[in-house]
Amino acid sequence: MRYIRDILTEAMAQKRPTVSFEFFAPKTVEGEITLEKKTIPSLKIARPDFCSVTYGAGGSTRGKTLGLVNNIQETHNLVAMAHLTCVSATRDETISIINEAKQRGIKNILALRGDPPGGIGEFKKIEGGFEYAYQLVELIKKTGGFSIGVAGFPEGHIACKEGKYVDWDRLRFKIDKGADFVITQLFFDNRYYFEMRDYLVKNGVSVPIIPGIIPITSASQIKKLTTLCGATIPTRMQEKLNHFGDDDEATTAYGIEFATEQCYELLKNGAPGLHFYSLNKSNPTLSILRNLNLLPT
Ligand SMILES: Cc1cc2nc3c(=O)[nH]c(=O)nc-3n(C[C@H](O)[C@H](O)[C@H](O)COP(=O)(O)OP(=O)(O)OC[C@H]3O[C@@H](n4cnc5c(N)ncnc54)[C@H](O)[C@@H]3O)c2cc1C
Repeated sequence: MRYIRDILTEAMAQKRPTVSFEFFAPKTVEGEITLEKKTIPSLKIARPDFCSVTYGAGGSTRGKTLGLVNNIQETHNLVAMAHLTCVSATRDETISIINEAKQRGIKNILALRGDPPGGIGEFKKIEGGFEYAYQLVELIKKTGGFSIGVAGFPEGHIACKEGKYVDWDRLRFKIDKGADFVITQLFFDNRYYFEMRDYLVKNGVSVPIIPGIIPITSASQIKKLTTLCGATIPTRMQEKLNHFGDDDEATTAYGIEFATEQCYELLKNGAPGLHFYSLNKSNPTLSILRNLNLLPT
């Protein structure tokens, strides 16, 4: 299985954007079947450069995350990346997860701190555990054998009281510790992404910073997600969402149109790729890629 850092380098040399998809590990067997038998097979027509699988709150999906990454690699023959957080795990437990990933042939890890249980309140490290993602990056780098990604926050991390520039300096620190690329939190105003990217580049960062794109499919869901991560919903978008209410079909159509324009502008202005928060659905993401002429013929 390939390292994502090599894929990104190759794509940049070919002057083409990478396309990647993020999945969450489903809670039910039904969800697993839909993801593996429908969603992933239909997204394969986009020939993604890689896929990633989230790590559930509190480390709750450890086995599922690694198992799904394994299946994506072996059954679907796609490059995959496991997300890994520091939540509720001691250093030794984290080492054992990294070793398990290695044994399963996993080559790519997104190193994250994770959120406090329920996503709200202050993160508290456990005795013998890590407090920040850079410590996880250090450990994975020391272990060797992985390409490492980290999270970046175009509006600054929600819990960073010192403001976005301090948060971006901390992102730089994670990169200095050994991260090969950054995937950003979702955002709807591209100026946030460009400002963060330009700041990082000005301060010596040269790794790819891949924007995270969410195709909106439901007003209530996007409200919940943005409340948790602190991303701003632009006024015009909020008005549209209010207008559509719980008409998810109309919201999805708007979400596709919005994301198409967002992605177009990002790529035109140098974003190295697009990472889609698929929410385990295929159609909205495929429609956006089709609009952008990014589906292979
Ligand atoms: C692309 C992407 C994928 C994600 N996938 C998952 C997932 O699978 N599972 C999951 O649970 N969550 C996931 N998250 C959410 C993420 O875990 C949370 O946003 C978390 O709160 C921050 O993680 P981080 O890795 O950025 O942490 P960090 O980089 O450690 O930053 C966390 C906070 O600590 C501050 N900080 C960092 N270093 C220092 C320091 N040295 N001193 C003082 N303060 C510091 C930062 O400014 C920030 O406020 C994802 C986020 C993104 C963007």
